[in-house]
Order: sequence, then structure tokens, then C-alpha cells
Amino acid sequence: MIRFERVNKWYSDYHALNDIDAEIGKGEVVVVCGPSGSGKSTLIRTVNRLEEIQKGRITFDGQDIHARSLDLNKFRSHVGFVFQSFNLFPHLSVAENIMLAPTIVLKRSKTEARERAEQLLARVGLAAKIDAFPTQLSGGQQQRVAIARALAMDPPAMLFDEPTSALDPEMVGEVLQVMKALARDGMTMMCVTHEMNFAREVADRVWFMDQGRIVETAEPERFFSAPQTDRARKFLSDLR
Ligand code: ATP
Ligand code: MG
Repeated sequence: MIRFERVNKWYSDYHALNDIDAEIGKGEVVVVCGPSGSGKSTLIRTVNRLEEIQKGRITFDGQDIHARSLDLNKFRSHVGFVFQSFNLFPHLSVAENIMLAPTIVLKRSKTEARERAEQLLARVGLAAKIDAFPTQLSGGQQQRVAIARALAMDPPAMLFDEPTSALDPEMVGEVLQVMKALARDGMTMMCVTHEMNFAREVADRVWFMDQGRIVETAEPERFFSAPQTDRARKFLSDLR
């Protein structure tokens, strides 16, 4: 579904992504990990073109994402992206945050969008908060609303860049639960995360990055029990 072919990116003369060749199949969950500065965020951000690439190709269901002819707004609205910071609109209620893009971009009626918001909030365990405002919610609740908001566009894939790393520890679990349930329901997911238990339980594959390259890809069991590179061994032992 998402395919990287010899993808290279530079920030001026800094080589941030170096010959990335990788693929995520439909319904697959990939966890991207690696040391700080290894290029994880850069890589995931190329998938909805928050970052441009200078060489190579990225396709989404066969469509060249970096082609000039691509309708970027339409494409972006299609792929759900959840960041570390929740980025909810503070002046809008939870319902309004979720209904905004479906009503504007997909031209859904308010009634229809509100019904869908109710369903999605139930799915992330926040049905009771539909008319609350973001400032009235905990960090974990805000992040679950952000996930519901992304899901409201019926995305065929979801991208997560460290969705739990800004949260207090006691709120990490509730967000991971929502992500696990999504994975179980067959969502295609690319997740940058340091939550190695999540990787172990949920990922189909782990990509380990170092210095702009994917240096290992493996099933989690194999990655954690028998990392193939010194760099990955060091990364894993530093986490413990
Ligand atoms: P972290 O775990 O800290 O989030 P990361 O693996 O996500 O790290 P990136 O944010 O992708 O790393 O950054 C990869 C490299 O590219 C880093 O060396 C970073 O300094 C550099 N970089 C990232 N964004 C820019 C930018 N806008 N301009 C210049 N260099 C950048
Ligand atoms: Mg990052």
C-alpha cells in the first residue's frame, strides 16, 4: 500500500534519508524505531508530503505521492496523521473538531458528521466528552480525540509520530489501547514510537533506523531477541 523506492532527502547538505527501500502492505502495522535524529519523523512526514524528497519515489496504492500532478489536499485528507502534540482546535468543541474536515472536505451534512463523531468517540472511549472543549480534557483524552478526528476522514492508512511521548505515563496506556484496537480491526499503520511493548504485541514488522537509513527490518520477535546490528543492540540495551 505504501512503498518507498530509493528515497533520498537532504536538508541543505545534510543527508537525512539515504536510499530508503521499504514497503507497508495493506493491513500491516509497521513500527519505526531508532535513535534520536535517525530520520524517523522525516521518513513518516514524507508519506503525506509534509517533507519533500529529492530522489526516489513514494507510492500509495500505486499513486506517486510526490508527483506534481497530485491533488495534495485531497491526498492529505485521506491519510490520517497523529502527532506528538495533539493539535486540536482549542476554540472548537470535541464534536466540532471531529466534524470540521468531513463537513468541509467531504461535504457531509452536519447530522451525518455528528453521528459519525459519536460513533468514533465511542470507539476511543470518550462518548461522554462530545461537547467538551479540548482544555477540559487530559492529554490522553485529547490524543484519543485527535485519533477520532483522523479516523473521521475514513483514511485507508494511519501515520503516528510518537503519539504517546508527550503524555504523562499514566495516560500512555489508554492511547496505546486505542491504537491496538485499530490494528486489530485491520488498519494499515506506520507508527514511530519508543513503546517497545506495543511493537512486540502489535507490529507485523519493525524498521530500525540509524543515520537516515533503515538498517534492519524484522518481525518484532526476531528484532528484540536477535538484533542483527551493533547499533540495534546498543539501542535496545539503552532502552532497558
Ligand atoms: P527524534 O527521535 O529525536 O524525534 P528523528 O529520528 O525523528 O528523531 P528527524 O526529526 O527525522 O529524526 O531528524 C533527522 C535529522 O534531520 C536530524 O539530524 C535533524 O537534525 C535533521 N533535521 C530534521 N528536520 C530538519 C530541518 N527542518 N532542517 C534541517 N535539518 C533537519
Ligand atoms: Mg522524531
